[in-house]
Amino acid sequence: MKKLKSYIKGRFIDGTGKDSLCNPATEETIAEVGGGSLDVSSLLSAAHAGGAALRTLSFAARGEILRALSKRIFAARDELIGLAIANGGNTRGDAKFDIDGASGTLAAYAELGKSMGDRTFVVDGDSVQLTRSVRFFGRHILVPREGVAVHINAFNFPAWNLAEKAACALLAGVPVISKPATATALVAGRIAELFAEESSLPQGAFSFLAGSVADLLSHLGGQDVVAFTGSAATGETVRKTAALLTHSVHVNVEADSLNAAVLGPDLDRSSEAYLLFIADLAREMTQKTGQKCTATRRVLIPDSLAEAVREDVSEKLAAIKVGNPALEEVTMGPLATRQQLDDVRAGIQRLAEETRSIFGGRGEVTPIGAEKGRGFFVSPVLLEATDSARARVVHELEVFGPVATLLPYSGDAKVAADLVRRGQGSLVSSVYSDDREFLKQMVFALAPYHGRLFLGSSKLGGHSVGPGTVLPQLVHGGPGRAGGGEELGGARGLHPYLQRTAISGDRPILDALFD
Ligand code: NAP
Repeated sequence: MKKLKSYIKGRFIDGTGKDSLCNPATEETIAEVGGGSLDVSSLLSAAHAGGAALRTLSFAARGEILRALSKRIFAARDELIGLAIANGGNTRGDAKFDIDGASGTLAAYAELGKSMGDRTFVVDGDSVQLTRSVRFFGRHILVPREGVAVHINAFNFPAWNLAEKAACALLAGVPVISKPATATALVAGRIAELFAEESSLPQGAFSFLAGSVADLLSHLGGQDVVAFTGSAATGETVRKTAALLTHSVHVNVEADSLNAAVLGPDLDRSSEAYLLFIADLAREMTQKTGQKCTATRRVLIPDSLAEAVREDVSEKLAAIKVGNPALEEVTMGPLATRQQLDDVRAGIQRLAEETRSIFGGRGEVTPIGAEKGRGFFVSPVLLEATDSARARVVHELEVFGPVATLLPYSGDAKVAADLVRRGQGSLVSSVYSDDREFLKQMVFALAPYHGRLFLGSSKLGGHSVGPGTVLPQLVHGGPGRAGGGEELGGARGLHPYLQRTAISGDRPILDALFD
């Protein structure tokens, strides 16, 4: 039986807690974790040494480390895909999305490091004259924090989540302590082994925790950073950790989201933008079995197109083949865990209070290539609100599976925007229209409630990756219930790991120090 290990101070050791990892298509146990204890002071002293080594390197040199890490993931791509299929219930396509996302994000930050050059700090903005004197000037600089970055990740993207967070922290010059969600940790565990083999990565700059974080968070201080991705409930627990509050530890939370897609009333069934909407919706519902924080959950359709949408989305969903993702013909695998299956079934039941079923009933399915009664399978489920204006649960409950709800509306932009805003802050929503006035109204009504907006128009068909793909160039995160966090966005992704300091003094001295 494979034993998942922690990586601390250059050694692989038993992780904390006691848990087993299974194949969600067969329920067979495939790995175990735990049996050890966490020596927090040894972990932190190793990480601090790694941080000191990173800070001596320029951004360009740190970027070269990221490039090497990206190449290691790429070289092990097939093996990692196999682990994601076995432990995550991923189809091959789902697995590639996660693993290529990981190597691609590391490569993108490697390029950013190259462009930032030989410096070890960032000059933020221009010099400003502070008084009438032509000598007294001020500047802002960004320098690496001297603590550690604790990264706690969700189960759905074990590779990408690890890599996107690590890319930003390491490029900023801050050592990483990465903890994957236990249930799907085989992929992250293998990546930790690959990183451990990379000699350009200073010892201690990357540590990996299998199992729980024990009381690590209680030992953090004002130079440290916590970046958490997962459910709002766990995010709240992490945020409330006494030591994090006492020492003003920077905490970034990426949590649940009820992302919406809005179809504009100007389109008809043959418009390219309408076809893009249908294709994006079917993919966003079913990719990764709907276990994507950016997946579309609420679908606003004008009354004039409601019947067309019901038919066209149902046709796409009927073509999805649910089953054991080890089989090539399967296009949607199981949910990742028994808990996920129970939660999704309970969520569908709650949504049923205010919806009717359009496709997939309550999620019952006969999976391909699975033993009867085994595996955490569910069918794609499309629901429709019986009264969009009164629906409540659909705006409050994230059902983390292949489930979405249609919300018919009049076609009025304000009505649509008011419905979307009831999600209380989302990671990403999308608007499909060729009417620039409609798009403008939606953008300015929705922007305060979102980290990202995707605009789908007819000319974009075939050119975009859709709303659900998180790209390193654009920020990821959202206000309110989405956690209030912000990651990525090119150089912006480094900011949580850097301290911005204002420096005022004699202008020639400032110029000599920072130019
Ligand atoms: P979760 O149950 O909240 O777990 C998230 C992580 O927190 C796991 O690594 C978990 O470890 C750890 N954890 C649990 N209790 C903890 C504690 N008391 N202290 C410190 N860490 C603790 O979430 P999940 O089920 O893995 O992920 C699904 C959720 O994540 C969904 O709601 C989804 O929307 C959200 N998500 C958000 C984003 C985003 O970017 N906004 C991305 C992906 C997913 P163990 O596994 O060992 O318990």
